[in-house]
Amino acid sequence: ALAAMEDTEAAWVTGSGLAAITCALLHEVKSGDHIICSMTTYGGTFAFMANYLTKFNVETTFVNFQDLDAVRNAVRQHPNTRVLYTETMNNPLLRIANIPELADIAHNAGAKLIVDNTFTPMIFSPARLGADVVVYSMTKFINGKNDCVAGAICGSADYINSLIDVNNGTCMLLGPVLDTMRSSSILKNLHTLHIRMQKHGQNAMHLAERFKETGLKYNYPGLAEHPDHQLFRSMMNEGYGFGGMISIDMITAQAASRIMEAMQRNGVGHLAVSLGYFKTLFSNSGKSTSSEVPEELQRQMGMSEGLIRFSVGLDNDIEATFQLIKKSINESR
Ligand SMILES: *Cc1c(COP(=O)(O)O)cnc(C)c1O
Repeated sequence: ALAAMEDTEAAWVTGSGLAAITCALLHEVKSGDHIICSMTTYGGTFAFMANYLTKFNVETTFVNFQDLDAVRNAVRQHPNTRVLYTETMNNPLLRIANIPELADIAHNAGAKLIVDNTFTPMIFSPARLGADVVVYSMTKFINGKNDCVAGAICGSADYINSLIDVNNGTCMLLGPVLDTMRSSSILKNLHTLHIRMQKHGQNAMHLAERFKETGLKYNYPGLAEHPDHQLFRSMMNEGYGFGGMISIDMITAQAASRIMEAMQRNGVGHLAVSLGYFKTLFSNSGKSTSSEVPEELQRQMGMSEGLIRFSVGLDNDIEATFQLIKKSINESR
């Protein structure tokens, strides 16, 4: 089902998203190899490359993937660059990676492009756009119920077969299996993913428009002001919207914290780090999902300490949710 969704020949499921990511990466590299990774990648992925792979003499260069020349300049011949790694939509700035261009850069260097599409299933099909491998945390939108942890790796049949080779496949030898009962329950939820993605996107778009009217500092790739709006349009599958992730900037971590407490009290949703749930979730990125990223690098990435990231839920009356957010902000002033 996942291969069909991604338009790849094959797919494999794992016990977590991070297992999918680390197995896909480890499978490509050996001592002396080099990886180029977006500097805004998921904290666990970042930590794996920055702190763990270095023990095996695999070096990663973290660059700003919005700057394609910087990516090109980071390519090394000796030792060989084996992997370019990025997320289609990054956290928490919601910047979009130019997958076709990155695929060209990777392939010209003899490397593979691995893309984490966790934030934007169905909206983007990275493999169709040139990515060699697509990885997912199914813990998020794909399962959508926040009642499990799971991951997936999608790619060519040869690649997936080599991943599960009994003698040297990482997905076989490291043992990150996903339980079969859990797999079947995720499959049931996969059948509603298209409708859920549409609704998450409609609700996020409504909030973005209302935040804009209210004069809040917001960030949503569905509106023309977002720096990657046109790029998003050029790569998207029509009909699934612009995603359920949106952020507002409350400038200081203290203000963000007060507002989040008020939003939880007022029933906007849950103060929680996950995403892709049917309820609205919110968290302060610098203190939670990006806490592995050093604060100096957070600033360099353009992340404000007062950033509140929302994973907008499937709320039937999203205007009522907006009113509760407004009330919470007013109460916290
Ligand atoms: C959550 C997440 C992961 C890790 O997934 P787990 O299933 O929690 O291991 C990886 N990448 C992204 C973009 C995520 O949001």
